[in-house]
Amino acid sequence: MKICRFIPKISGQPQFGLFSGKAVHTLDAEQIFNGDFAPGPRAQAFAFDDVRLVAPVAPSKVVCVGRNYREHAAELGNVMPSEPLLFLKAPSSVVGHGTAIELPSFSQRVEHEGELAVVIGRECRRVSDAENPLDYVLGYTCLNDVTARDLQKRDVQFTRAKSFDTFCPVGPFVETELDPLDLRVETRVNGEVRQRGRTSMMAFPVPYLIRYISHVMTLVPGDVISTGTPAGVGPLSDGDFCEVEVEGVGVLSNPVRATSPQ
Ligand code: ZN
Repeated sequence: MKICRFIPKISGQPQFGLFSGKAVHTLDAEQIFNGDFAPGPRAQAFAFDDVRLVAPVAPSKVVCVGRNYREHAAELGNVMPSEPLLFLKAPSSVVGHGTAIELPSFSQRVEHEGELAVVIGRECRRVSDAENPLDYVLGYTCLNDVTARDLQKRDVQFTRAKSFDTFCPVGPFVETELDPLDLRVETRVNGEVRQRGRTSMMAFPVPYLIRYISHVMTLVPGDVISTGTPAGVGPLSDGDFCEVEVEGVGVLSNPVRATSPQ
């Protein structure tokens, strides 16, 4: 099933929907997070052309994993961590498919990081060894962990470099039926492939990450875990068009534009 959030073009508030190719049927959040994806008797249907997609979730937090692919750690001159390296992106940085990534005037080097993202389906705290961490997952989506690389190097921690408004495109859909262990993850800029990897190359695979993070912080429905980026990160410039594709999910596309100095 492909879950989205959308705004009808005529007017309205963001709402959850089930995408079925040409149409979107409304779903409510409560049923989705109970694992019920069947449009009910009161569901409305919209032609896909009549809606605008927004980010498919509104997370309370976006938990990211640094250096989870060996070749990416090497390209930035970093050693591999012996346990997952966690950081957060501000929820306010989340945007949907089609929204422009805005280059802040603070930075001279903003880079793409295409990643597989996990969307949590039910509250998840201290997952035991007996449990399957994937049972807590609603589904999977594409995420672009946009990063001001110069600021990341200058600041001791990642908050500013990772959390400018628009620095977290997510979408276009949450795919609920997918095995995350060996998926192709590809990033293209203006149609040219910049990053290509497989999730089987992760140092810490998805089930390990969910269990590990759940022992640090409680994850709630809609929270997002972004699982790290393969090698090939590179700069984004005004006028570029950036795409992140995760096999089985779809393509997350965002134009890039400069912001004028304030
Ligand atoms: Zn990243």
